[in-house]
Amino acid sequence: MKLWVLVLGLLLGPVAAAAQELSALARLVPGQSAIADRQGGVAVDLGLSQPVPWRVRVLDAPPRLVLDMREVDWTGLAGVARRSEAVLDLRAGVVRQGWSRLVMELAGPHLVTQAEMLTGESGAKVRLMLEPAGAAEFAAAAALPEPEGWAVPLGADLPRATPRGAGPLVVVLDPGHGGIDPGAERDELTEAGLMLTFARELKDLLLRDGGFQVILTREEDVFVPLEARISIARAAGAHVFLSLHADAIAEGEAVGATLYTLSDEASDAASQALAERHDRDDLLSGVDLTEQDDLVATVLMDMARTETGPRIERLTLALEDAIKAAGLRMHRHPRQTAGFSVLKSPDIPSVLVELGFMSSAQDLARLTDPDWRATMALALRDGLKAWAAQDAALSALRR
Ligand SMILES: [Zn+2]
Repeated sequence: MKLWVLVLGLLLGPVAAAAQELSALARLVPGQSAIADRQGGVAVDLGLSQPVPWRVRVLDAPPRLVLDMREVDWTGLAGVARRSEAVLDLRAGVVRQGWSRLVMELAGPHLVTQAEMLTGESGAKVRLMLEPAGAAEFAAAAALPEPEGWAVPLGADLPRATPRGAGPLVVVLDPGHGGIDPGAERDELTEAGLMLTFARELKDLLLRDGGFQVILTREEDVFVPLEARISIARAAGAHVFLSLHADAIAEGEAVGATLYTLSDEASDAASQALAERHDRDDLLSGVDLTEQDDLVATVLMDMARTETGPRIERLTLALEDAIKAAGLRMHRHPRQTAGFSVLKSPDIPSVLVELGFMSSAQDLARLTDPDWRATMALALRDGLKAWAAQDAALSALRR
């Protein structure tokens, strides 16, 4: 491949490549990609079918390199040659519409000492050189503020009012997990796959009803960080956010649908473990949400939550009523709380629905039964409609 240097240079901060007008999705070219330890550092080559805008930076706790690019199809990432002790794990996926992220988990602090995109007739190549760094030096680089125009904000968004007009109810459905994070697994089935199927079915049902606009946080089996799921909901102007799961729980009894809302205090140890597991799976692939809020944002969020809290409460009650009215099995404690990060939008009523638990044979049979799923989808639709009508009436009273 004939190569010439398109962009060169970068020491500590992120680098922006020249903007390109793109006609098609870029693809990773695994055969032209390699990660290898070299001269005490790490050399990273990523072949791409075409050049794309990109940025790179490091983050701490755990040390990791984050490479954001205009959307890239990462199929074949697992096949990239890896001969590095310093790179523990690779994850990639879409972080928000049009942007994808590659996260490289590092064994220790490393800084990017060279970053360039080479382009040629047969595509492009991102070439990075990482060198081991001292803890303090690395921490300083990892703490650099997010630059202007960073494609995917690393921090929490500020609350934005989403007044509910006369138009359709904007519902964001969030099929849990995906891509490199399959979620629970039983008998060749993954939670990620089951939830994508259910989300598509529910979306179709809601669209047929006519009163809904529906956005999915992922349309296929790709990894989407929790933070990006929230960003998608914000960008869509969501009136309501439903995260769909069917986890496996080892401890205690877990059968039947359960509605989770956000709280610092988990309703029990199993709920807390469940929320922590979701955050831990996400942390290595994205950005820790908990450290991002600055003081101003926190105050604004508290204000928004005060107003949203009662709306969420009514939403879960409406969903519970509808699920029970449909004769569907619910958990013995149908409404629970835990610190699920994906529910942290302060102003969008957000509920995490465990449709059932894959660890339960009964629930698994239900989740794989199209008739059961259709009944559950109808119940959620009815619950959303009942809540929306009540919410609109109450907000008219408040005005
Ligand atoms: Zn899950």
